[in-house]
Amino acid sequence: MDLKEKIREAGIVGAGGAGFPAHVKIDAEVEYVIANGAECEPLIHKDGELMERFAEEVVEGLKLVMAATGAPNGIIGIKEKKASAVEALRQATSTTEIKIHLLDDYYPAGDEVMLVYEATGRLIPPGGIPLNIGIVVNNVESLYNIANATQNIPVISKFLTVTGVVKQPMSFVAPIGISLKEAIEIAGGATINDYAVLTDGAMMGRLEQNIEAPITKTMSGIIVLPAEHHLVERKGRPAEIMNRIGKSACDQCRLCTDRCHRYLLGYDVQPHNVMRSLGYSDLDADYWRRWAYLCCECGLCSLYSCPEELYPKEACEVSRRIFREKDIQWKGDDTQPKPHIMQEYRRTPLKLLVRHLGLTEYDRPAPFVEIDYSPRQVRLPLSQHIGAPAEPVVRVGEKVRKGQVVAEIPRGQLGARIHASIDGTIKNIGSEILID
Ligand code: SF4
Ligand code: SF4
Repeated sequence: MDLKEKIREAGIVGAGGAGFPAHVKIDAEVEYVIANGAECEPLIHKDGELMERFAEEVVEGLKLVMAATGAPNGIIGIKEKKASAVEALRQATSTTEIKIHLLDDYYPAGDEVMLVYEATGRLIPPGGIPLNIGIVVNNVESLYNIANATQNIPVISKFLTVTGVVKQPMSFVAPIGISLKEAIEIAGGATINDYAVLTDGAMMGRLEQNIEAPITKTMSGIIVLPAEHHLVERKGRPAEIMNRIGKSACDQCRLCTDRCHRYLLGYDVQPHNVMRSLGYSDLDADYWRRWAYLCCECGLCSLYSCPEELYPKEACEVSRRIFREKDIQWKGDDTQPKPHIMQEYRRTPLKLLVRHLGLTEYDRPAPFVEIDYSPRQVRLPLSQHIGAPAEPVVRVGEKVRKGQVVAEIPRGQLGARIHASIDGTIKNIGSEILID
């Protein structure tokens, strides 16, 4: 069985973002494979811990993808500050040609477009993907999972960081499908009663109201904050209010655009223009929305750049969603982007960002801890990836074993398999499979 099939069978999806099925991504011939270990979300440490503890597996996964895609070049992008992980990777790559590219500590160093530019000097064409310039990018956890797939180990667990107001901030491997509440309890529980939970980071993550929501294949971490924290208040604001204050208070100062890393790389992303869409009805708004098309929704403009604490990122997010719904494709300037003269000097240092977000007191290590946790039940969403939801292949009442396939990729569609993460009985099947 070839690597693509092994990856498909193991149900691997991009572990560091939207969850693009990994078997589709490697079905190409490229020049470079880049391991994305940039990990730039404030307070999240799971990739650093993974690279330090499992450097051999990450490098093995990278070598496998290089062989499968015929890539002569392999690069690992990692922040220089993660000295122990860098050292572990240096040892694991010592007999190979794989290069380690050290990154400065800024946000968002992990954006694929940014990382590709940093590591190779190449810029992905506007509206394109790394493949267009002969590159495949995989998150380091995906590469770890790919190494496991060759040992017939499917994706049934997830590296996570749990931090903030918890007794013991830590990174660990959690069974997929346990609840946020269980993950927080593994980290010793919240140290205050009135707390709120952000999943997937302070910048790109969201406020999760349902503490029973399950851990999925793409989740990177849980940040527990006091319910009255300013970031919680900002993320919890209803969309109508974001729009109303944006419409009336945006003075078009352009700071959101001038500090946007994609704009600085030469892409036609202009959130200050997108803000104008808030004042127009649908068709006229589309004119202004087009400056959102190449936004990666990193959140820098809303949570750092805008002096009035408005929501340009959210305006971009809505614009991009509307374009998807209307099936409007990129029609902007598709000439080769040319980085802004200030590109290198307008990066946002992570320390400054952490301070701006009011997170300095929670900016602590979250070291890897081996846990021995046997959940009583798990909930496995059928849609944990880009593409069609997986189709259940089990029935209610059926007994399943850990690692068994419980949902398959619908025939002929983009998707990923789901496996049972515990031994148990199927109790319910809806948009999730409940195993008890
Ligand atoms: S930074 Fe804020 S106020 Fe200035 S243009 Fe952007 S959204 Fe408007
Ligand atoms: S969220 Fe804002 S800063 Fe980030 S890419 Fe989009 S427009 Fe630029």
